[in-house]
Amino acid sequence: MGIMRFQNHPIIKEFNGIKKFFRKNETHISRKRMEDLKKFTEVIGESGDTIAFDIMGSVNFGQAIEYSDMDIVYYIKCDNNSIEDCLTEDCGRFKIYKELLINSLIYEYSSQSYPIQIVDCLNLNQVEHDIKIRNFESLALIKFGFYRSVCRGVNRKVLHFYEQLLEEDEELCNVIESSIAECFLGLIHSNSHSYSFKKYMERLEFNGSKIPSSILEKITTYLNK
Ligand SMILES: [Zn+2]
Repeated sequence: MGIMRFQNHPIIKEFNGIKKFFRKNETHISRKRMEDLKKFTEVIGESGDTIAFDIMGSVNFGQAIEYSDMDIVYYIKCDNNSIEDCLTEDCGRFKIYKELLINSLIYEYSSQSYPIQIVDCLNLNQVEHDIKIRNFESLALIKFGFYRSVCRGVNRKVLHFYEQLLEEDEELCNVIESSIAECFLGLIHSNSHSYSFKKYMERLEFNGSKIPSSILEKITTYLNK
């Protein structure tokens, strides 16, 4: 799953190739956190509502340790088919889900709580609307395409519907793809990005895994783009 054509972009392919190596050596804490979120989306699903996530950072690379933050992107469907931007409007529904998730993680699923960093929240109504009206300048679509190409999804079947919808429009995809590539170059050159890679490499080595020189080379080439 994910959006195939974006994933085939050379720079995204490179990033995901490196990520794959780290994920093969996933920590049990990363796995447990994915399970916590999955359980959460199931409970919300039973109530008739829709929620999904994309995970960035250490859980995306499978290298989360006990006190790592969890960086997450929310996907919700805002009230009454509203197409507002839930993050800038700080809408009620988003507020409720923020609190619910934090409370569930603390009281129900985890013996040990961990800090949640909310990276973003996308309103799926807005995503659908922008695809339908063919909004070539949609920030929501750029973000959706970006997260879906590089992150780790929870409740992916929900997201798949919007991926397919977007993929049907080739012209729209082309425009979004070039914006995604630009975002990516900005990200690679940020200090925190290369710092994260160093951190994940140290963790792997600390846990007794050796990083093959081919992977080290790939990481160096990637970070020096
Ligand atoms: Zn909202």
